[in-house]
Amino acid sequence: MHLTDIGANLTHASFHDDLDAVLTRASAAAVGTIIITGTTVLESRLAAEIADRYDLYCTAGVHPHHARDSDEQTIAELRKLALHPRCVAIGECGLDFNRNYSPHPAQEKCFVAQLALGLALGKPLFLHSRDAHPRFAQMLRSHGVKTAVAHCFTGEAEELHAYLDLGLYIGITGWICDERRGTHLLRLVRDIPADRLLLETDSPYLTPRDMKPQPRARRNEPAFLPHILKTVARALGQPPEELAVQTTRNAARLFGIDESRASRTTQRTAAA
Ligand SMILES: [Zn+2]
Repeated sequence: MHLTDIGANLTHASFHDDLDAVLTRASAAAVGTIIITGTTVLESRLAAEIADRYDLYCTAGVHPHHARDSDEQTIAELRKLALHPRCVAIGECGLDFNRNYSPHPAQEKCFVAQLALGLALGKPLFLHSRDAHPRFAQMLRSHGVKTAVAHCFTGEAEELHAYLDLGLYIGITGWICDERRGTHLLRLVRDIPADRLLLETDSPYLTPRDMKPQPRARRNEPAFLPHILKTVARALGQPPEELAVQTTRNAARLFGIDESRASRTTQRTAAA
């Protein structure tokens, strides 16, 4: 089996001391491909360094929380980082009208600049949206964005279908394992076409709540992706092994990751 975690915040301070061990556990859990999320210029640079060191992938972007600190220079820096051979997407970028750490006009400006960058470079977009429907979909539509993933989808049916109509891939996290706020996703994942579904941990956030025992300090990590895989597979009535193949193939297609590399990693994991 070979799994792909399309979103892990491995630059987060909680991974500073034991990243080697975290990535060894990920390999042992068949999580052979990991894309490290970039959320600021600095974090995107760190993500590229970690990707180089551990043979992983990364994104380059500014999260809407940090939109108010970004300007033209920020986008110029992202453009440089995007040329890194391991950088497979622009983002995470988008709108977050839940926390509102940045004013809406600043969020929209920073989002548009990154949409334009992704389109100009022919790179897929790694998108974040919280409580920003329908504005978010309107902006994607008016800019003609088609090659992208709505990462950590947590919304309702109407929002999901708006994204699917735009041609987006959908990223599912351990939110689906949350009995308080994620149970609607157990139904909704069945609406996602098999070739548009992606899996992610969003480590160190969103530790699956039904995992027993809970990890120390409740830190999520890529090795817990099989738990999310099993939950989604159960909801779809599909064998987890089959879903692993499908979602890894989807990630390879969207992000332009060489699938032969993925199968080599599988052999290495199997042989280990
Ligand atoms: Zn996000």
